[in-house]
Amino acid sequence: MPGFEFWGDEERKEVNDVLETGILMRYGFDGARKGIWKAKELEQEICKTFGSKYTQLTSSGTAALTTAMAALGIGHGDEVIMPTFTFVASFEAVISVGAIPVLVDIDKTLTLNPEAVKEAITPRTKCIMPVHMCGSMANLDALKNICEQHDLVLLEDACQSIGASYKGKMVGTIGHAGTFSFDFVKTITCGEGGAVLTNNEETYIKCDGYTDHGHDHKGGADRGADLHPFIGYNYRISELHAAVGLAQIRKVHQFLAIQKKNQAQLKQILSRVSEVTFRSIPDPEGDSCTFLSWFLPTEEIAQALVEEMKSQGILAGNFYWYKNNWHYISKWDHLKNADFLNSQNHALTERLRSYATQSFPASDAIMSKCISTAISLSWTEEQINDKGEKMVAAIQKVLASQREAV
Ligand SMILES: *Cc1c(COP(=O)(O)O)cnc(C)c1O
Repeated sequence: MPGFEFWGDEERKEVNDVLETGILMRYGFDGARKGIWKAKELEQEICKTFGSKYTQLTSSGTAALTTAMAALGIGHGDEVIMPTFTFVASFEAVISVGAIPVLVDIDKTLTLNPEAVKEAITPRTKCIMPVHMCGSMANLDALKNICEQHDLVLLEDACQSIGASYKGKMVGTIGHAGTFSFDFVKTITCGEGGAVLTNNEETYIKCDGYTDHGHDHKGGADRGADLHPFIGYNYRISELHAAVGLAQIRKVHQFLAIQKKNQAQLKQILSRVSEVTFRSIPDPEGDSCTFLSWFLPTEEIAQALVEEMKSQGILAGNFYWYKNNWHYISKWDHLKNADFLNSQNHALTERLRSYATQSFPASDAIMSKCISTAISLSWTEEQINDKGEKMVAAIQKVLASQREAV
């Protein structure tokens, strides 16, 4: 899955370019930097590789989401419809701009259920934020239609699905804006970093200023001469981080090809067990294959299998999100208690507390049976066979003991 597995001379070379000049900041110091602009170069490379008109790098994927929301005019009191299954960063960003996360059910794509989205729309809804979880994609045609019908913003959280595509277009480039994360465990890494992708110039210009204290970047070599047409923050990426990303993005097609091959091999082995079914993928060709996500027939079998794999020492790399503290709503107690360090607007905290009593049986029914296996770049064919065979044996054992119990 993650680019960090292929750390090498290419990354060291790019970082060394920056170390030679000592200009670690992405803006200014035009003479001293001797023509080295890693962040700018990486932005161009992202545009080229993924087919977006504009890219703004940020210090993280979370910062990218916050930046995109601010640039798209999402703020105080606005409702953002998002899925019950995602990394906590998605709702953190919504809250950071004063908006209200409206959590709705997922379906077997492990992403937003368009029917559940429709039901959640109110006069305060401003944005639909699909999260392309675990390397695959949401049903973007359906969600785009809903956005067009209700005049809503479509913001894609593509942080986990760099290189996935939907009907020929890269995810992250299909909505009004999309975000990538380059944190240490993502498809390509900068160490820490993120990006907003958009085809809209005005949105891009807002992102550019917002991530740099509102600088309009029109003052030439003199940063002090830049104007501040609006209030921004510092969500800049450093040149050191961008340098790592530049080496990584040049390998992204290689990463994707390996993931596809490895995922296909593992899927073939697990497919021998007729009780195992797989995640539905709106555009199977476009799966980035960072994970293989599969379902057991019942929650009991899934939980028994997790215990079995744990006891056999083969659980590593297999994620049972249902019991994970970070990715599924059932474990987001801090959100449901509105545990903030500082005071927040009342409408937001009230809404969050309402999640303590709201249940999501449709999401539970899916997540409680789901296991995602992370696909490594460094596996050999032999290792995949070995891993797959051990998983099949563990599944068969659990299924047999369940049958006996009946
Ligand atoms: C990783 C991730 C983010 C946030 O990225 P960071 O760079 O770690 O801040 C946002 N959304 C999803 C779905 C993610 O997996």
